[in-house]
Amino acid sequence: MDFNFTKEDEAFRAEVRAFIEEKYPDSLKGKVRRDELEREDFLAWHKVLAEKGWVAPSWPEEWGGTDWSVTQRYIWNEENARADTVPLLPFGLSMVGPVIYTFGNEEQKKHYLPRIYNGEDWWCQGYSEPGSGSDLASLRTKAVREGDHYIVNGMKTWTTLAQYADWIFCLVRTDSDAKAQEGISFLLIDMNTPGIEVKPIITLDGSHEVNEVFLTDVKVPVENLIGEENKGWTYAKFLLGHERSGIAGVARSKRNIDRLKEIARSELVDGEQLIRQADFEGKLAQLEIDLTALEFTELRTLASESAGKGPGPESSILKIKGTEIQQRITELTLEAVGYQGMPYQRDLGDNVRPIGPEYAEMSAPTYFNTRKTSIYGGSNEIQRNIIAKMVLGL
Ligand SMILES: Cc1cc2nc3c(=O)[nH]c(=O)nc-3n(C[C@H](O)[C@H](O)[C@H](O)COP(=O)(O)OP(=O)(O)OC[C@H]3O[C@@H](n4cnc5c(N)ncnc54)[C@H](O)[C@@H]3O)c2cc1C
Repeated sequence: MDFNFTKEDEAFRAEVRAFIEEKYPDSLKGKVRRDELEREDFLAWHKVLAEKGWVAPSWPEEWGGTDWSVTQRYIWNEENARADTVPLLPFGLSMVGPVIYTFGNEEQKKHYLPRIYNGEDWWCQGYSEPGSGSDLASLRTKAVREGDHYIVNGMKTWTTLAQYADWIFCLVRTDSDAKAQEGISFLLIDMNTPGIEVKPIITLDGSHEVNEVFLTDVKVPVENLIGEENKGWTYAKFLLGHERSGIAGVARSKRNIDRLKEIARSELVDGEQLIRQADFEGKLAQLEIDLTALEFTELRTLASESAGKGPGPESSILKIKGTEIQQRITELTLEAVGYQGMPYQRDLGDNVRPIGPEYAEMSAPTYFNTRKTSIYGGSNEIQRNIIAKMVLGL
């Protein structure tokens, strides 16, 4: 196993870095708060990359993929994290896109894929329901076939950024008599169809990131069914595999640790820099050691992917460790800023300066928001079950 980058890889890195420096939209520079971003902000970088041909590296070349090696994709992620670019939304590019080009028919591919690629359609994910999160196969939203339409009734929840979405991909029950997994279908639904209502859920940090989506007698043309009726569970699981890849977030965690170190250099305890305090220094060192271990685990996965072996259930390890580290960074950041992280400083208005240094301003909301990472994408407890069963054979 060779962990060193080749000359070609380093040349690729230089090309990517120069491109980001030149083309990253000015309108996004300095916008580090996700809740400050409007719909057009999320799409601005997407559209620049679509024009360059770099927005969907892992797609088949026929639909715009770049045929980059896994190392090049790794470098791509690293350079984006380094430049702190707004992450691309996964719902079209890495979730429903791969489902459509793998299981969709020709018409569906021709219609939806270019629109996802160019950022014309915003997608959201309609999987979870109240009572059907970890136990997804128990979902109850029902689709009943009536002539050339399905009539859909039910409710989805935790639907990320549905307030901006043009389309939702939904798991629906089409056969209530079959075994849970065998009565589910995968439907594409236009969010402008009558009968769809989106209600915001405001999270602990005060932001509007997730929603409830109610579907009442929503009429969906049968041509919006992906693959075969009642085979949706197969497509759903395929999509979850894509959702988990890249979830370790090593590159962005590295950048966030650098930011934490800067804070710990600025903060003083009894006249001494916090970063020099043995207790804090020890926690920071442990965090970096764990992140380095995770990085090598990820590189090992990439090396075996390059050798033609899929990541397999081991990707659950990346999800667990990656998200635990993301949470620990926010915990240490909150510890570093101390009482300056206490006031709730959102929406102060234009004329009011936040209390404390700028870096303390978002530490509490970010800490609260990051609690989500061990829940979404399949909770960490569920990932442990997967490791126990599939990796350890318990
Ligand atoms: C911020 C955020 C964004 C999200 N975005 C979306 C989205 O866009 N679309 C979408 O469809 N969903 C989304 N989700 C939903 C997410 O997939 C679910 O929250 C997740 O699958 C957990 O399901 P649940 O919330 O119903 O919790 P539950 O399944 O009720 O679990 C509750 C607790 O019990 C534990 N648990 C459950 N079963 C087991 C078991 N068998 N063994 C051990 N422990 C277990 C869980 O780990 C968890 O700690 C989002 C969630 C969050 C927090």
